[in-house]
Amino acid sequence: MSISDNISKIKLQLPEDVTLIAVSKTKSSEEILDAYNAGQRDFGENRVQELLPKYEALPKDIRWHLIGHLQTNKVKYVVPFVHLIHSIDSENLLEEINKQAGKINRGISILLQIHIAHEESKFGFSTEEADKVIQLCRNGKFKNVRIDGLMGMATNTEDQTQVRTEFRGLKHFFDQVRQPETLNPKLVTLSMGMSSDWEIAIQEGSTMVRIGSSIFGSR
Ligand SMILES: *Cc1c(COP(=O)(O)O)cnc(C)c1O
Repeated sequence: MSISDNISKIKLQLPEDVTLIAVSKTKSSEEILDAYNAGQRDFGENRVQELLPKYEALPKDIRWHLIGHLQTNKVKYVVPFVHLIHSIDSENLLEEINKQAGKINRGISILLQIHIAHEESKFGFSTEEADKVIQLCRNGKFKNVRIDGLMGMATNTEDQTQVRTEFRGLKHFFDQVRQPETLNPKLVTLSMGMSSDWEIAIQEGSTMVRIGSSIFGSR
């Protein structure tokens, strides 16, 4: 199967209001262009060093999503062009994004990464911490940052019931912090689901799936 076949196959199964992010980390510009020529415009990368040369080389109407842990000293490089940062996991990082975004007068959309997996290694806020950050944002602390929603990664396990339970928990929290819907910021995006678990994620209310190996092949 070609990259474009893989994209078509996934798109057929995606509800219309779910956005597909093609995760292109470790993949070449040629492979990204194959996906681009099949109509794909949203791409996800997890390392700034890898994202910058791809941004330079590839068409400017690509929407770049940063999905990996971001260090504060790299924020200034991505703020001029990034479409959405999925992996906000500290208040410190928000402060730096707010500062760098202010310098170039550009609003930055972000998702708060919530720790839902039963694994030590995954980054993210607890729901209590995220609640606090959303309040700070609603009180105007980060004027150049817009919290668009939440992101989460389920445990890497064969146990589909566990994966489903983790996604369901995140959706529950998402629905809580979105209320009332008139509040600012409006939380509209729930980024959950990767190659191994996106079907479950969609059943549990995902609005954005981040798929790498099922599109580009294994890394
Ligand atoms: C690599 C990565 C993905 C995609 O993983 P696949 O299993 O290849 O689909 C999704 N989200 C994040 C945060 C990643 O780092």
